[in-house]
Amino acid sequence: MSNDVMADNAQVETKPKPPVRAKVFIIYTGGTIGMVPSDPNNTASPLIPANKESLEPFIRDVEKEGIYWEIGGLTDKKGNPVPPLDSSNVNHEHWVYMAEAIEDKYDDVDGFVVLHGTDTMAYTASGLSFLLANLAKPVVITGSQLPIFQLRSDAIQNLVNAIYIAGYKATGLPLVPEVTICFADSLLRGNRTTKVSTTSMRGFDSPNYPRLGEIGEHIRINTDLVRPPANNEQSPFYIHRELNANVMDIGIFPGLGPKQLKTVLKSPDLEGVVLRTFGAGNAPSDPPEFVSVIGDSIDSGKVVLNVTQCVQGGVEMGLYEASSGLLERGVISGMDMTAEAALAKMMWILVTEKGHERQTQLQIGQRGEQSENLFDVRYPIEIGPDKAKPVISESASPAGQFRKAALNRAMLRVAGVGFKGLADDEVLEVRIFVNLPGANESTSTKVPQYAGSFNYQESQGTTIMKDITTTVKRVVEDGRPIYINIVPVGDHPMLCKGLFLALFAKAE
Ligand code: ASP
Repeated sequence: MSNDVMADNAQVETKPKPPVRAKVFIIYTGGTIGMVPSDPNNTASPLIPANKESLEPFIRDVEKEGIYWEIGGLTDKKGNPVPPLDSSNVNHEHWVYMAEAIEDKYDDVDGFVVLHGTDTMAYTASGLSFLLANLAKPVVITGSQLPIFQLRSDAIQNLVNAIYIAGYKATGLPLVPEVTICFADSLLRGNRTTKVSTTSMRGFDSPNYPRLGEIGEHIRINTDLVRPPANNEQSPFYIHRELNANVMDIGIFPGLGPKQLKTVLKSPDLEGVVLRTFGAGNAPSDPPEFVSVIGDSIDSGKVVLNVTQCVQGGVEMGLYEASSGLLERGVISGMDMTAEAALAKMMWILVTEKGHERQTQLQIGQRGEQSENLFDVRYPIEIGPDKAKPVISESASPAGQFRKAALNRAMLRVAGVGFKGLADDEVLEVRIFVNLPGANESTSTKVPQYAGSFNYQESQGTTIMKDITTTVKRVVEDGRPIYINIVPVGDHPMLCKGLFLALFAKAE
């Protein structure tokens, strides 16, 4: 690696260089870290990015640790250099340029540091995590709240810590083969982060995932939280070069009406929406047009992914009536993803998947961006009054990645339930069987496939939820369809608008 040190004085020049123990490639994209006042004579003038050469004097000392480095910038599609940017001007195409810079040097170095503005750093970290496939080397993104040229800057600390983590072979730190953000006292999984402060030196947090590393007097990596490296002998590293930015991030708010929403959702090029909802995934159920506008856009081929506006926690659709409508109309769950990760994942999935597989893969963790996978089994069923059935017996398969061993919870949801000939005060027992397609009223409740029952009364509402985790764990086999039989006890044919099985499994 060529970076012959221009020694500042003769004394340094005569010292032997330590042997190379790690090689790090630094990609300078811009951001406050490298900014200087636009008017050199006026420190209060607006900050603009300086060139990469002006950062080099601040990096040299890491060679004392045996970390050798090279610094480069981005190159666009036509091969032209991209000038350092304020990160507000970084878009999804720049994420691809970053991925290409990493691909270029992947075989030559041990790790990467990306210098980036803080404003959109969490988006870039998310985007890069999806673009880089089979990653086995650290990609550490950092920046700073104050320019490196200022006396009180946090830049040197952030930069050197990032280089130490990327140059793990020299520093003896554990390998962190992920896209991370190194900022202040924390090393965070990149696609779990969000910018939480415009002023604090602790500018980032990952509210739904613990810190991968704590940086103090020592750097401590929590190795059990770090994703394992890909085996690049068997699964070579590669990058995705395309993202689809025909997406929108729509935050709902009290007062947002179906009309306004429709205007946005009707835009012709729109393909994917990240809907930022209240609490655990809720949206107005009144007026009903609010949900139908969203549902209609899904029927017309758009993908709508629900994430929470809350800083911490995630979406659990169906928990409240205010999210049931969204679930039933085909809105999918972003679980505990950040809005940044959800948006980047949408841009990526719209390119890598087609048709219903988009919905399926959006709900499954791809790069550690969510804590749980949701295998959403939707049984194709709609039984109206004219066709009421004595027993509902349906089968459907979860996505191929479903592994029963990772199952945390199986929730059955029967929507729009009704029974013919039921008196107002009559209580009806309804039994559920899993993987026993022939089950009916005379089937014993002692069989292992029996998942329990619920009591139904006309007055109680039309959505039934039932936790059937134990039975699913007992009788379901990986790679096979799951049969659900719903059996009313007594002669009351059943109506039903939808049958859903949500399988929540630990994400890898
Ligand atoms: N505006 C700057 C940027 O994001 C802010 C920063 O780097 O902290 O590029």
